[in-house]
Amino acid sequence: MKAVTSLTNPTVKAVRALHLRKERDETGLFVAEGLKNVTEGVETGHAPKILMYGREAADHPLLKAAVQATLAVRGEVIEVTPDILAKVSRRDNPQAVVGVFAQRFVDLDSLDPGRAECWVALHRVRDPGNLGTIVRTADAASCGAVILVGECCDPYSVEAVRATMGSIFAVPLAKASETEFAAWRASWPGSVVGTLLTADVDHRRAEYRKPALILMGNEQQGLPPDMAALPDVNVKIPMRGRADSLNLSVATGIMIYAATA
Ligand code: SAM
Repeated sequence: MKAVTSLTNPTVKAVRALHLRKERDETGLFVAEGLKNVTEGVETGHAPKILMYGREAADHPLLKAAVQATLAVRGEVIEVTPDILAKVSRRDNPQAVVGVFAQRFVDLDSLDPGRAECWVALHRVRDPGNLGTIVRTADAASCGAVILVGECCDPYSVEAVRATMGSIFAVPLAKASETEFAAWRASWPGSVVGTLLTADVDHRRAEYRKPALILMGNEQQGLPPDMAALPDVNVKIPMRGRADSLNLSVATGIMIYAATA
């Protein structure tokens, strides 16, 4: 296996550049850190294009499996220094393994609503931590996909991928403009349930006819009127204290589990 010690090595530079959205968009690649996340990728059929590891991880059986998977697709495997791992992950205590994988987005029209009981659409989600947490929750509840509507943050940013804890490889992701989503939603076979702080309907009383599609709003603005007009019903999760709203990822978790109860 090749050993690399220089920060100016072209592969190291290319992996570091994947912190930039422009670079991720242009290359279609993303970084997953840690042996657990890399193994999630390998076990779900996503072989790394590049695999970097520190010497301390070299003998781990899961690393050996990841190396095999990488080499099988003619990917690059390199042993690197702790300094390089720290620079690549921008952390003082970096993970000992870093994988570079191909992004995957599925077409809205290729989604089969019958495949899952609950589906999640997010309008203009902005916070990568929220998005990653929602992908993780969608995986935990076996949702069919997370659909990103309008201009959203990047699910493949390092921050979002970290927050998914490996679920980035398990949950199909789709992107749609507002217009595309409205047209697609028109033929949705189950309930479409939106979330609005001004709604009169308690989220526990709504009908979640399967497959249920839940629609969540942006962290600052919530759902604008044109989006709030799309669901069969808009619901509110009761707010009993002084807080006027829930964090988006918490509200999405509550909605996913209400829809799958
Ligand atoms: N100021 C925004 C508003 O007026 O809608 C707050 C948005 S809230 C932080 C972000 C998203 O989380 C909302 O669009 C909604 O999807 C969901 N959400 C948060 N609290 C909720 C609640 N109590 N009931 C229903 N949805 C909620």
